[in-house]
Amino acid sequence: MENWIGIEKEYYMPTFKRFPVTLVKGRGNTVWDDSGKEYLDLVAGWAVNSLGHCHPVVVEAVCRQAAELIHTSNSYYTVPQLELARLLVENSCLDKVFCCNSGTEATEGAVKLARRYGHKHLGGAYEVITALGSFHGRTLAMVSASGQTKHQQPYTPLPSGFANVEFNNIDALKAATTENTCAVMLEPVQGEGGVNLADAGYLKQVRRWCDEKGILLILDEIQTGIGRCGSMFAYEVYGIEPDILTLAKGMGSGIAVGAILAKNHASVFGVGEHGSTFGGNPLACEAARAVISYIIQNDLSRHAADMGKLLHDGLAGLVEEFDCVKATKGLGLLQALSFETEIADKVVLDCLREGLLVNRLKPDAVRFMPALIITPDELYRALDILRRVLKAIQYAG
Ligand SMILES: *Cc1c(COP(=O)(O)O)cnc(C)c1O
Repeated sequence: MENWIGIEKEYYMPTFKRFPVTLVKGRGNTVWDDSGKEYLDLVAGWAVNSLGHCHPVVVEAVCRQAAELIHTSNSYYTVPQLELARLLVENSCLDKVFCCNSGTEATEGAVKLARRYGHKHLGGAYEVITALGSFHGRTLAMVSASGQTKHQQPYTPLPSGFANVEFNNIDALKAATTENTCAVMLEPVQGEGGVNLADAGYLKQVRRWCDEKGILLILDEIQTGIGRCGSMFAYEVYGIEPDILTLAKGMGSGIAVGAILAKNHASVFGVGEHGSTFGGNPLACEAARAVISYIIQNDLSRHAADMGKLLHDGLAGLVEEFDCVKATKGLGLLQALSFETEIADKVVLDCLREGLLVNRLKPDAVRFMPALIITPDELYRALDILRRVLKAIQYAG
């Protein structure tokens, strides 16, 4: 067997803290490593594999489209791109779509769109207010937008034009609003930042404030969208509508694809003002169209709500059972479990050994974001493994 850990060390930039396992195959909610060991996957490629691994619907769409037409340029009309756009518009409160290849590209594009709006309608306003603890991506501008010093500090000086304010604090947001503000950009649930839920009333207050000031509300639903939080989009749970919405992760169940959606009044890009070579290509768009159609036809959002409740209740049971477990929080199939001390690395490694993949969120918290097709049996199995692991840690400590 090749030593992939050594090969990575020699050839790959050391940007990722990886666990000592090399995955070679996946089906449904199961993955296998190069020694043939099997794992139950509650990470799903960081909330990407919405239909699990190698779902027949995705495999069929990719193979069929790959044999038909993979890429043209955006100088021509292509069918999958337009079918995907129509599907997204018909199933959301937004009116127009622009396709890209990743989450970062979607949020970066959304900020460009908001700046165009500022130039056209707000006397040149350009600043975007975002939340502390947020995550909007890895380009310099999106690092500046993301309110986390660990992502910002290594890359100063950062692009200007962003104000990071406390999440769930409407007064802080109001105080940061100036005549230069063109938009507010928020995640309904901060995923990477700790699975921090927006308070029930907060997003409504933000919506009202944006309307009052005539500025745009961008919701970054790259992680929360496409069924994950128990409805097609998390904004539905909160009873508000954004002017601009960004999507990516779960859209293609593993195929790289993202999108910016906007209401008509906020759809202000003109010809040549934004673009992408790969964005909107037939292969990625056909995969996304197939995935989203399948999610809608099988009401997997509803299933995610049910499975999310089951998972949340199971995790709450662990909070009751173990002194080392502090709390659980989440929405739908985006859940976190926090500990009294910094044992997350140990929990993740012990779970790995027991054949369960969970995500280390922080030194003292882990995250669960399984595929939307996860079953009750699989969740019970995962909870059993977690219970075994926590029991061993509790007795040892
Ligand atoms: C993952 C994520 C991004 C960045 O997406 P990439 O595809 O990694 O560029 C942006 N915003 C949110 C909320 C995310 O979860």
